[in-house]
Amino acid sequence: MPRTNPAVRFRAGTARPFLMLAPAAALGLALALFVCFSCSTAQEETTKPGTTKLRVATRIVPPLVIEKNGTLSGFSIELWNAIGERLHRETEYIITPDVGELLAAVESGRADLGIAAVSITSERENRFDFSQPILNSGLQILVRGTAANVEPNPLLEFVELFFSRTLLIWLGIALLLILIPAHLIFLVERHHHNGIIPTRRYFPGIFHAMFWAAGTLATQADQMPRHWIARIVAVLWMFTGVVFVAFYTAQLTASLTIQQIRGPINSPQDLVGKNVGTSRGSTATIYLNEVRAQVREFEKIDDLYSALLNQEVDAVVFDSPALLYYTTHDGRGSARTVGSIFHREDYGIVFPTGSPLRKHVNEALLALRESDAYQRIYEEWFGKH
Ligand code: GLU
Repeated sequence: MPRTNPAVRFRAGTARPFLMLAPAAALGLALALFVCFSCSTAQEETTKPGTTKLRVATRIVPPLVIEKNGTLSGFSIELWNAIGERLHRETEYIITPDVGELLAAVESGRADLGIAAVSITSERENRFDFSQPILNSGLQILVRGTAANVEPNPLLEFVELFFSRTLLIWLGIALLLILIPAHLIFLVERHHHNGIIPTRRYFPGIFHAMFWAAGTLATQADQMPRHWIARIVAVLWMFTGVVFVAFYTAQLTASLTIQQIRGPINSPQDLVGKNVGTSRGSTATIYLNEVRAQVREFEKIDDLYSALLNQEVDAVVFDSPALLYYTTHDGRGSARTVGSIFHREDYGIVFPTGSPLRKHVNEALLALRESDAYQRIYEEWFGKH
């Protein structure tokens, strides 16, 4: 139960003896009392049961806040309704477009408090007061596809594989290596009457030699040199070819497997330079700018998920509870989270600095946690863990 503000009792108590004074003084005092009374009621109003409705700023972030046919539900809404009930206060929700606007509504006094998926941060703690944490959260990455089926586009994957850096380096090395046996064969064989190089001139003789060296490297030697030195070179080169093909195949297989089991984004390190979507004004935006991702901000969380599915962004970075809910509901089968939570945060109820409401809300919140009411609401939205 809310307690009477001690400041109010003090003012009322000290005023009584003065009422015995002269009428003018009494009138002045009455006026002063009236002013005093009205300010104390204004201060008390926020904590007194059953008076005006509490104005609560919120914002749609499923499953914390869900709006369906004009009705609000979700973890944060149900939690607040339970707190409001304990405070014997009715609620008037003010829906704001994003977390920045929610905070602005609280800061400007348009709302008495805010609740949704508001992360407690040191910067915000400077400008606001927060309740005890209401939920553990943190950032996670969402990509298209499911674990078993990562957006298969075989043609694109094949082209990407052939132009991958490692394989191009391998081919470059092979081309350079070919020059060595090609020159040896050219120099020795061109003098042999029955040699495999039909001309003594460097051009086009060297091309014949290079063609032979390339074919032999790929274990397709169709001609054997005649000169004994050339034959030794040929045998050594054939062995090099076997080793080269083995390494090349291994590299190709490894790249293919990696490409199949992992999407291009698997951890926060992969976000650098990528086109990443998130919620406008959120803590994820700050994080993504710090890691130098190409950030695209969305106001509506639904638009954020659509942008991922429509390939407008490579990945989404957002609050883990929201992403996990999406992957098990609307986004089931079309999106999945990768990696674990990498930026731990807690959600809190936000108040203007010095709000007398905070203490009462904290008491109610802790009482809900001590009973099983909090747990019931939690399990309803996040399941049993
Ligand atoms: N938890 C994040 C934040 O407070 C995102 C909230 C939102 O987009 O509603 O910045």
